[in-house]
Amino acid sequence: MGSKFERFTSEGKGNGLRAVVKIKCGELIYTGEPYAFCISKDFLKSTCQNCLTRAETLLRCSQCKIARYCNAQCQKQAWSEHKKECKCLTRLQPKIPADSVRLVARIVFKLLSGTGRDPEEPYSLAEHQSHLADMSEQKKEGLGHLCSMLRLYLREEECDLSQLPSGLDPINLLARVTCNCFTISDGELQDLGVGLYPSMSLLNHDCQPNCVMVFEGKRLQLRAVRDIQPQEELTISYTDVLAPSTERRRQLQEQYHFFCQCQRCTRADKDSDMLAGETEAWQTIRDAIPHLERLQADQQWEELLTQCQVLLDNHGGVVPDRNIYLLRVLDMALDACISLDQYDKALEYGYRTQGPYELYFSDPHPSRAVELFRVGKLQHFLCRLEEAHCSFRQAYDIMKVTHGSEHALTNQLRRKLEECQAELGRL
Ligand SMILES: [Zn+2]
Ligand SMILES: [Zn+2]
Ligand SMILES: [Zn+2]
Repeated sequence: MGSKFERFTSEGKGNGLRAVVKIKCGELIYTGEPYAFCISKDFLKSTCQNCLTRAETLLRCSQCKIARYCNAQCQKQAWSEHKKECKCLTRLQPKIPADSVRLVARIVFKLLSGTGRDPEEPYSLAEHQSHLADMSEQKKEGLGHLCSMLRLYLREEECDLSQLPSGLDPINLLARVTCNCFTISDGELQDLGVGLYPSMSLLNHDCQPNCVMVFEGKRLQLRAVRDIQPQEELTISYTDVLAPSTERRRQLQEQYHFFCQCQRCTRADKDSDMLAGETEAWQTIRDAIPHLERLQADQQWEELLTQCQVLLDNHGGVVPDRNIYLLRVLDMALDACISLDQYDKALEYGYRTQGPYELYFSDPHPSRAVELFRVGKLQHFLCRLEEAHCSFRQAYDIMKVTHGSEHALTNQLRRKLEECQAELGRL
């Protein structure tokens, strides 16, 4: 790897990565496995610890009864990474430590067993920034709690933490993990876990980046979403782009300790669209979102749909669909309707999200592709073939760029598109 990019010092941002050759939109720039990763607590029961496939019934590790696998082969492949952790998990039952603690434990096992540095990586864990000095007292206190948990968790394995390389003591590792990890999501953008991909941590942020990361299992793929010239810096977005500049800047400052000076933030680009409508009304919607997200996580679909509808009925007249908080409610209502098998209604919400998505994702973006795919499937199911074909086509054009033509989800989409084409041909 490394043939398409190199490490450099980016003005005002420190380390960064830049292209050394011309890179075309949709081109794969980097692909690699994580140095270490772990599955999020919420998905431990439903996700294979080796290939990250999700299924209702998975084999369970007979010792800790926490790790799950598709089959014996997946279990065997994951054993070297799970072996030590298995004992720690078993002893702490029924408590399961936070994701960052389990991830750092895996890093500690790797560091102490001497399988530390991958010689091919141009950037190592030791070079990652911890930002400990920039952290608020409250955040440091939080890290302190995680650190005590880590020590408790690791006791069973009798890890000699004093043997860790200098600068990589537990608190430092925890701090590094919080600002250098990537969320591993599946093709449909469900966040399944967190992983550390050392070289990719060099990528700097931009609110309108020229690259995106997509995962296949735990394998990371970095692709260009625009044509990139030699010497041009490669960027990704660390944060949700469906947020106004003040909100993005606040999140970036809090988690990554920098003030975003990108063009979009400086110009407050699309802020007035994102916050369109009567302020008091969208603030009410915004404040209701955490509660709605809880209902969504708990899969309380009926209650979620009712509450979304109340918000849409009460404020839809004075807040347009492109307001990002209202858009978020439309998305959740769509989700709830699909889960409740109310497809006609789901499609109504789906139609309303299309315009805003197009407005906010002007470059190819995985979220837009996944949304179009979802709408296409609804249209297909409801026998609106022409419309379905059009949605699948648009989704495919984006997904070829963001996921590549070999990704499992792209293959799934291609089959739907072909199916649709064949049915249209028969009419
Ligand atoms: Zn598996
Ligand atoms: Zn186990
Ligand atoms: Zn920005």
